[in-house]
Amino acid sequence: MAGWLLENFYKMNISNISQIDDKIRGICKGGVALQEPLKHHTTIGIGGAVSYFLSPGDMAQLSEAVKFLSSNRVPLFVIGRGSNLLITDAELPFAVIKLKEACFKNMYRSDNKIFAGSGVGLGEFVNFAASEDLANSEFLTGIPGTIGGALIMNAGVRDVMDDGGKKDISISGLVEKIQVMDKTGKMRWLSRQEISFGYRSSSLKEYILLGAWFVLCPERKKNISERMRRFLAKKSGSQELVLPSAGCIFKNPKNCEMSAGELIERCKLKGYSIGDAQVSGAHANFIINKGDASYQEVKALMNIMREMVLDKFGVELEPEVEIWENKKDDSDG
Ligand SMILES: Cc1cc2nc3c(=O)[nH]c(=O)nc-3n(C[C@H](O)[C@H](O)[C@H](O)COP(=O)(O)OP(=O)(O)OC[C@H]3O[C@@H](n4cnc5c(N)ncnc54)[C@H](O)[C@@H]3O)c2cc1C
Repeated sequence: MAGWLLENFYKMNISNISQIDDKIRGICKGGVALQEPLKHHTTIGIGGAVSYFLSPGDMAQLSEAVKFLSSNRVPLFVIGRGSNLLITDAELPFAVIKLKEACFKNMYRSDNKIFAGSGVGLGEFVNFAASEDLANSEFLTGIPGTIGGALIMNAGVRDVMDDGGKKDISISGLVEKIQVMDKTGKMRWLSRQEISFGYRSSSLKEYILLGAWFVLCPERKKNISERMRRFLAKKSGSQELVLPSAGCIFKNPKNCEMSAGELIERCKLKGYSIGDAQVSGAHANFIINKGDASYQEVKALMNIMREMVLDKFGVELEPEVEIWENKKDDSDG
């Protein structure tokens, strides 16, 4: 499992658990749910109950909660829309923070720049930019994440240029600076130069992201809207946007002419299912949850996809979706 404070995952001091319950309730007031099922917070609709699900009401509550959890060695993860997560069905003995209150969803303009809080949805961000006649974020249309999740993942698309060539564009190309909180609860700004971004990856994992300034470009609304329509049409025509999924399951492999989706499709896996987990008929790199798919069913399907692509093409697929599992899953699996 990837994430912050992972090294302490099995070190949580559970003897003082009821004190932790009381204290965390005191810090986050109404924004605490105990044993909250994460399947309600992921787009694929899978995920077990987490010990503490926190929605701090403001920055001070967030900072105090982070400080307290860190000092008590309670592992802490942040969730956006859960649109890139595959989470075990088992119980998760840690805390998850969701920045969904108003103070984490601010958006405002200064010159050709927009500040957006981490909890802002990508659709809201693109619409706001368009309403301000500011272009270049249109490629984010139809990606169902938040600003925070998109920065961590360096979300983006492969666009087709006028000459027919393909180009990867991602949110990192818009970033001026990012406001973060570290595990001691302190806030700071990271300039673009202090951050490295890769294909669906970033160096931001150790932080809680609070918001960012993005540099955009003035343009007529009509042109911006036209591009938003084009990006959405492309997505609707090629991706599974209706049934629950976690987006692309595997990254496109490096040094390979075919995308992960093409490789899986050529293995004739479209429509193949295990239980309620199915390889999408619309896009072979999507796994959909037809109703009550389990974590283990999705993992088993991923293994088959990976093994068949390796057998047929000698290409090793790497998950794009972030997997939260625990030791029990390892021993089961
Ligand atoms: C139908 C569908 C289509 C998709 N299409 C695309 C696409 O075209 N391109 C693309 O790149 N992706 C795509 N995705 C994947 C996904 O939407 C993106 O990766 C998105 O950026 C994830 O954002 P999120 O808010 O849902 O993050 P989550 O899935 O909730 O989290 C992703 C990671 O970010 C971390 N995180 C989230 N918020 C914060 C924060 N505030 N501070 C610190 N860490 C944080 C989480 O801990 C986790 O590590 C698609 C997904 C679906 C379901």
